[in-house]
Amino acid sequence: MSTFTRGRIFEAGRIELEQVEIREPKDWEVLLKTESAAVCGGDLHMFRGRHPYVKFPCTIGHEVAGVVVAVGKDVSKLKVGDRVTAEPFMTCGECYWCKRGRYDYCQNLKLRYKNGYSGFGEYYYSDEQFTHKLPDNVSFDVGSLMEPFACSVHAVRKGQINLGDTVCVLGDGPIALMMGCLSVVSGASKVFLAGHHDKNMKIAENYGCIPVYSDEKTKDYILENTDGIGVDVTFEAVGVPETVRLAMEITRRGGKAIIFGLFEEDFSAKPILDAMTKEIEVIGSNSYCWDFQRGIQLVSSGKVNLNPLITDHYPLSRINEALAAKNTSAGRPIKIIIKPWEE
Ligand SMILES: [Zn+2]
Ligand SMILES: [Zn+2]
Repeated sequence: MSTFTRGRIFEAGRIELEQVEIREPKDWEVLLKTESAAVCGGDLHMFRGRHPYVKFPCTIGHEVAGVVVAVGKDVSKLKVGDRVTAEPFMTCGECYWCKRGRYDYCQNLKLRYKNGYSGFGEYYYSDEQFTHKLPDNVSFDVGSLMEPFACSVHAVRKGQINLGDTVCVLGDGPIALMMGCLSVVSGASKVFLAGHHDKNMKIAENYGCIPVYSDEKTKDYILENTDGIGVDVTFEAVGVPETVRLAMEITRRGGKAIIFGLFEEDFSAKPILDAMTKEIEVIGSNSYCWDFQRGIQLVSSGKVNLNPLITDHYPLSRINEALAAKNTSAGRPIKIIIKPWEE
């Protein structure tokens, strides 16, 4: 074992599998043999060449789970043989935010997948501080979903749902479905989830959400079912102007709207005016900080079952097919898992 395979994009639409030299982990690093790597919406943006902050060539893939096969000399909490998942961060540890424990705000934050570390590969180097053990009852596949799940945990915690609250999630992608499930787990009495993909809506229903097929009547439906008041908490997980507008229309006066979607276009100030007049607290949510641990506990305890979100598996050799499948709307895989060691 002197080289291993990893994925890298040189031009839009194609991931090259290249051979790279294997090296000893740095003092603070662990080396994982990757067992499962999930495909993220962000990977797709890169694959299409539409990611606003990525220049080619660039390594790709950041949702990983695997087994520790080597540790650096300063590594103390992890050992060879541990089953783990990892946060894809490289932080400085020295800046204002790192010193305060808000490592997600690090002023020198780098993401491993943009810096030569590919989750779509046979091996993966991770900093010990961002590597988390998986309990025996959490599979590698579910372990690889801890990164998007941590995003959902982070957002739902910001919603501060109280027992009996009403919630609406706008969107039916994997993170929206996780948010719906977590809102139910948080004790909401009604969780509406607005989307339009049959398979995803069925999963939302099984999670205890009320699926609402989004159309021009979505607003009326939600208002009618909340006595004309609107919901206490709305999660916007689409990222288009219409859903922000809708979020402000369906959130009650004094309620909270958590904005998670990524916007490619600018839009009118009308939703901000609504937020002002209705005194809606508009809260941004991006990535995670100390949320992996909570996510792992939520799946290990059985409170949340993420298996229904895993719809497809591909070997690493077919990574391009996997990304292409995610890129087309037909069939619409929810979460694709890449298996580096299976053909
Ligand atoms: Zn991701
Ligand atoms: Zn820092």
